[in-house]
Amino acid sequence: MERHMDGGNEWFDEPEDGTDEAMRDELVTGDELSASVIYEKCMALARNLWWTWHPEVSSLFRDLDPIRWRQLDHNPIALLREFTPKRLAVRAAEMVLFSRINYAYRRLKEYLAETQTWAATHAGVLGARPVAYFSAEFGLHESIPIYSGGLGVLSGDHIKSASGLGVPLVAVGLFYDQGYFKQHLDQHGYQQEEYLDTKVENLPMEPALAPDGTQVTVQIATRNGTLRAKVWLIHVGRVKLYLLDSNVDGNTPEDRELTSRLYGGDERTRIRQELLLGVGGVRALEALGIRPGVLHLNEGHSAFAPLEAIRQHMKRVGVPFEEAMHEIARQTVFTTHTPVPAGHDRFGGELVEEHLGPLRDELGLSHDQLMGLGRVEPQNGAEPFCMTVVGLKLSRYANAVSNLHGRITRRMWANLWPWRSEDEVPIGHITNGVHLPSWLAWQMRQLYDRHFPAGWIRRMGEPEVWQLVWNIDPGELWETHNTLKTLLLAFVRRRVSRQCRRRGESDEVVEAARNVLNPNALTIGFARRFATYKRATLLLRDIDRLARLVSSPDRPVQIIFAGKAHPKDEPGKQYIQQVANLRHDPRFANRVVFIEDYDINVCRHMVQGVDVWLNTPRRPLEASGTSGQKAVLNGALHLSVLDGWWAEAYDGTNGFAIGSGVNYANDEAADQADAESLFDVLENQVVPLFYDRDVDGLPRQWIRMMMSSISSLAWRFSAHRMVMDYVRHCYVPAAGGTSCWMPSRR
Ligand SMILES: *Cc1c(COP(=O)(O)O)cnc(C)c1O
Repeated sequence: MERHMDGGNEWFDEPEDGTDEAMRDELVTGDELSASVIYEKCMALARNLWWTWHPEVSSLFRDLDPIRWRQLDHNPIALLREFTPKRLAVRAAEMVLFSRINYAYRRLKEYLAETQTWAATHAGVLGARPVAYFSAEFGLHESIPIYSGGLGVLSGDHIKSASGLGVPLVAVGLFYDQGYFKQHLDQHGYQQEEYLDTKVENLPMEPALAPDGTQVTVQIATRNGTLRAKVWLIHVGRVKLYLLDSNVDGNTPEDRELTSRLYGGDERTRIRQELLLGVGGVRALEALGIRPGVLHLNEGHSAFAPLEAIRQHMKRVGVPFEEAMHEIARQTVFTTHTPVPAGHDRFGGELVEEHLGPLRDELGLSHDQLMGLGRVEPQNGAEPFCMTVVGLKLSRYANAVSNLHGRITRRMWANLWPWRSEDEVPIGHITNGVHLPSWLAWQMRQLYDRHFPAGWIRRMGEPEVWQLVWNIDPGELWETHNTLKTLLLAFVRRRVSRQCRRRGESDEVVEAARNVLNPNALTIGFARRFATYKRATLLLRDIDRLARLVSSPDRPVQIIFAGKAHPKDEPGKQYIQQVANLRHDPRFANRVVFIEDYDINVCRHMVQGVDVWLNTPRRPLEASGTSGQKAVLNGALHLSVLDGWWAEAYDGTNGFAIGSGVNYANDEAADQADAESLFDVLENQVVPLFYDRDVDGLPRQWIRMMMSSISSLAWRFSAHRMVMDYVRHCYVPAAGGTSCWMPSRR
């Protein structure tokens, strides 16, 4: 009874005991009680994001109303709110969903009650006082628009894996009621941005309550009035995510909009958002009665948090600033993601004084002393206050997000430790990974389930499990991949024709869009932020050569692009325009497409269905990158510059490398050399390997490479492995457990 639909499938066998039959009779006769029980169970499932990584649960929501499900951006609360309990029960009876609902509900309850977790054995010291994980964005699901891209998805994946491993962790972020913008392109291919108000009642959020049952609010005094926020709670499996929201009575109209948009506004908006996240976040935890044993600052946005923690410690224990600072730094972990000096937040003395002034009074610091904490040279009055510098100074554990990025970061901040050599700069690395259950296609999951040991999903960070990929029949792996590719093509066609319709194009164009792309052609995916260093247009440098690749009669190549440019990034928008307008060139029409409004949903479809995932950053600017990790676990092959995670992952058999892993003196030289290498690898390795078929029509060598890629990469670049590394190398020692320094600092 397989059905292939959007984003999930039937998961359970039909019940054999006739329960559904019995319940149907009951319900049709109008049993209000069981109807409301079923409704409440569905709501309970929808209100814990555990469902987002359980395809058997999302397929349940989808089966209630497949069309509305898609229209509502896969938001189960919005969907359920369109049903009365009675109508839901009738629909569930028609679709034979009762036992699936009951079973899913029971599994969620069991999951929440479980005590035998990995962390119970390996991170006992965190049991008393949890880790508090701070991030400016969380990418958890497409229906919760509080993320913009990679950093947010990384935070989302981090807390999902923390939940899976049972790590005692609470997360802190901001609630953006307009989120990041929705993208569409006008008839010139130029990006248009639209901000939509999110309906709070459709989100799985509830007011966060203090131990005495009152709604938690925080206040932060500035030199220029008080900033207030309320706090929301989202359940992400076993992890609680608290989001601060400045849209409250008592705030000025501007402050009520402070947290409306992610990365909107000017420097002043920025420092106020960061004040709320760091200082407000620590105050919120105190009001909630949570005393964290470890602070993890994911990127510099939250680096004010330790200052507030120091203030609380001084007050509680009665020690001076210096002593409190050492104590808090010992408990603080700081992760930096930005390999370019200009990418770090910096604020001038006036903004810092306006916002941190009252806190600095309580800390007993002069203005210059506070500014010094954010400067490489504390006495240099011309140097602004840098969030990364304060993060590094106030944390005992600091890390970059890949091996190569570790080297770049140590060099970049070596001046902070002038008495040390560059390799001894105390910044390690923990390479990013992805939450496998969120990104793995259901069909691949089923295939792995058949070949891997029972319960393997709990052990997905272990290499041994993944060696069993070699036991899969190559034909079966290939068929599964092709099923997913077909689903991707259906998705692309639907989207592209919708885009044409919205732009008001002719019926013929809309109709033609329903047939773009060729299911048999080698399909390359490129989707990410259109920041110029990611070089989405690298292949466009030699347009005739690209045309030859794409329109080859016997070995065609096609490319699916997606991605947003930051609203202020004019060059990035021009890159989008160049790519999107290829559709007007007959050599590329139907073979190169641009999908608008890149988000988690578009990403999931793309990484699950393409043959090749293309990644072309200008080395060494990609700190890690994670989209390629999502693609490889679904069987795509990674074709990438040796930058970020790929510099340590590529072994010659598990994908393709662009260039030879050197840094160039200038951008033009790098772009020229990398474009040449990219075409060369495509023409001489990727295309021939893909089209080399045996008598059964199977590309044997390609499939071998898929197996090599999955077995060597899936476990290593999983968020489970990443979180286990953070626990062992940072959280446990920071909480006062046995110390174990970070992996190779070479
Ligand atoms: C995974 C993901 C990213 C990160 O991709 P990179 O390869 O790091 O650029 C960005 N946006 C979305 C929506 C994602 O799902």
